[in-house]
Amino acid sequence: MKSVPPFPPRSLGKFQAKLLAWFRANRRALPWRNTPPGRTGRDAYRVWVAEIMLQQTRIAAVLPYYERFLGRFPDVESLAKARESDVLKLWSGLGYYSRARNLHRAAKEIVSRHAGKFPQKFDEALALPGIGRYTAAAVLSIAYEVPLAVLDGNVARVLARLGAVRGDLGNNGRWQRLNQTAQQILAHRTPGDWNQALMELGETVCTPRSPRCGECPVSHWCRARALGLVDVIPAPRRKPAPIRMKIAAAILRDAHGRTLLVQDPGAHDGVLFSRMWQFPAVAVSRDAATELAAHLRATLGMECANGRPLQALRAARHGVTFRNITLLPFFARVEKLPRLPRTRVIALDRLAQLPISSATRKIAAAAAHNDVAHLRPSLDQNSETADRHSHSGQRGAREKRPIAQGSGVFARA
Ligand code: SF4
Repeated sequence: MKSVPPFPPRSLGKFQAKLLAWFRANRRALPWRNTPPGRTGRDAYRVWVAEIMLQQTRIAAVLPYYERFLGRFPDVESLAKARESDVLKLWSGLGYYSRARNLHRAAKEIVSRHAGKFPQKFDEALALPGIGRYTAAAVLSIAYEVPLAVLDGNVARVLARLGAVRGDLGNNGRWQRLNQTAQQILAHRTPGDWNQALMELGETVCTPRSPRCGECPVSHWCRARALGLVDVIPAPRRKPAPIRMKIAAAILRDAHGRTLLVQDPGAHDGVLFSRMWQFPAVAVSRDAATELAAHLRATLGMECANGRPLQALRAARHGVTFRNITLLPFFARVEKLPRLPRTRVIALDRLAQLPISSATRKIAAAAAHNDVAHLRPSLDQNSETADRHSHSGQRGAREKRPIAQGSGVFARA
């Protein structure tokens, strides 16, 4: 397999020296680059947590989460001992919650099988939950100076421009060749700094739009710049057409200001609410209130009173990869909230204490926004109790639940 022309350059040593000198002078002070007080060398745990958080997520968004997470779980032992709900709570809002679940599982494996030390062998690292080739190479090179090159979107863009590689970089053959190039130009004495230098260059100088070529330490070697192709490399990726969907969710409130949450693994592809506590919700197409009422009847045994509509609250937009989702929250007073497996009753103002997804936060924000006439009085007299119901087994019999007459929108069936 050929590497991407004209790399590696004949003056590879000079090329490496230039980029490394630039990185050492310009590297951003990011918390995962620090060694904690009292320790020496780079901490694989800190690098690993950062790499997982940074998947699909911008650095600015990760920073506050990272600090909080490391504050609560400063080492792999503390993470391994934690309850999953506590890990998810600290991840709450960062999205892609399978990352947090895998991180937690991997921490347990590292403690039980690797004596609490992130493995130094590539195959062993790769065998951990949630670790792919990129993450394994990044952690091992940065923490242990293992000579493994990384190739992520930023590095691929830099290499493609340096070599004037046209076409979709996501193409399998093209990606493989870039991977080979990345390994060929790796600075073997300092693979950790080298990988970070290439990533840093892609993130701060050789950006997707309007790269700052005048400040680039390796512009001398850049074929895209020489050929006037900077703006057309990389070629725009063909994105799948966005899927539009509407999700209606019910914020039920009882007389004590409490609401009902459900756990619905697999609902909405398991993506939207990430298998965490959520308001009862269903995908709708035409008449959201009617379809939601039917969903509540089928899953919770609740009937809508005499066709009176659920009260629509402010809608919110939510994006998950290629899905454009409109969240349609509805409010309803109920006399009593049902108690069923996989449900939980909790005061509305205590939601923030649970691990919930961004979508659930947005729905809750609609309730807070509408607080004026309906929510505040009951929240003021709310009880402190949060009742957890069994997670196990099937949902119970769809028995009809007693519900409010008159003032609420739900009534006894
Ligand atoms: S010269 Fe411009 S396009 Fe080329 S690597 Fe540097 S920043 Fe990127």
